[in-house]
Amino acid sequence: MNLAEIKSIKTLFSKPQKIAIVTHRNPDGDAYGSSLALYHYFKNDYHQVTVVSPNDCPGFLKWLPGQEDVVIFENNIAIGTKILEEAQIVIALDFNAFHRTGQAMQAVLEKIDPIYFLIDHHQEPDDFARYTYVDVKVCSTCQMIYQFLEELDELPKINKDIATCLYAGILTDTGSFRFPSTSSKTHLIAADLLDRGVEHAKIYNRIHENSINRLKLLGKALNNMHVIEKYHTAFITLSNDELRELNYQKGDIEGFVNYALSLSGIVLAAIFIEDTKQEIIKISFRSIGNFNVNELSRKYFNGGGHINAAGGRSEKSLEETVNDFKNVLPKFDRLLNNYNE
Ligand code: 5GP
Ligand code: MN
Repeated sequence: MNLAEIKSIKTLFSKPQKIAIVTHRNPDGDAYGSSLALYHYFKNDYHQVTVVSPNDCPGFLKWLPGQEDVVIFENNIAIGTKILEEAQIVIALDFNAFHRTGQAMQAVLEKIDPIYFLIDHHQEPDDFARYTYVDVKVCSTCQMIYQFLEELDELPKINKDIATCLYAGILTDTGSFRFPSTSSKTHLIAADLLDRGVEHAKIYNRIHENSINRLKLLGKALNNMHVIEKYHTAFITLSNDELRELNYQKGDIEGFVNYALSLSGIVLAAIFIEDTKQEIIKISFRSIGNFNVNELSRKYFNGGGHINAAGGRSEKSLEETVNDFKNVLPKFDRLLNNYNE
């Protein structure tokens, strides 16, 4: 953001506003963390602010301060629509295209005409916002919220609740500070958040606590792992029957794809999840070094994301989707066999 934009944003929020904060479908720690951090920031002021999430968050985020105040759009379509229609400012966090909110919310976001303000760290944002603060090099939207407050000279307003939400998002989006996107600035911010009262060990445990069902599902996922040595690729599948049999709950699959990526010599990892409710195969891609999964996903699997972490979808069967994936790999032969860590 340049100085002029910061100035106009300051002016924008210098009078009471009706603000809606929205994030992507299947919200993760960064989506909920950034939304709730800004919620607490504005709530303590004199604005009217509501977080509207397309659907509910996974259980491992159910403790985040303020999560009980979030309006879950798919369960409250009339109320959610009214809030979005009445909002003067809509702040979009951790996504950059309306379709990431799902069909029902997308239709509303396309129809209304508020001042859109986008803060995000994904590649190639759509052009819908009056104010856009995007930096694909930053590890998380939560770090961007911190930097935004820093630009506004508002760091003193970061209380324990805000700090906790921001820390949770940074922790989850950096894979506990281990992904390449983690910078010295990330650690400096984490340190400052600790000084503001964050209980880091408690947060880590709450996010990583396992249920017996999740561990059994992990066992199944590891059993279903395939390695294609020729392309330095490993992938996992989970069918709807397997998910049902092991009593799958939202969030249980989080992080499974990283087990495939942790195999020695693997450059590209994927997990294919059969979602019979949405009638799609949901795919997560991960990579190491300079192999760009955002490009792979955008080009062949209706998705996108970042260089080393992206998601996509297919409307074909699980088997056909896996076949498509296998057929695409030869196109990346050179990149998969000559990567830089
Ligand atoms: P995950 O694999 O954890 O669902 O997502 C990895 C990254 O890719 C996240 O930053 C997420 O926002 C992005 N992503 C996941 N699914 C999609 C998708 O369907 N479309 C786009 N454009 N990005 C996605
Ligand atoms: Mn994020």
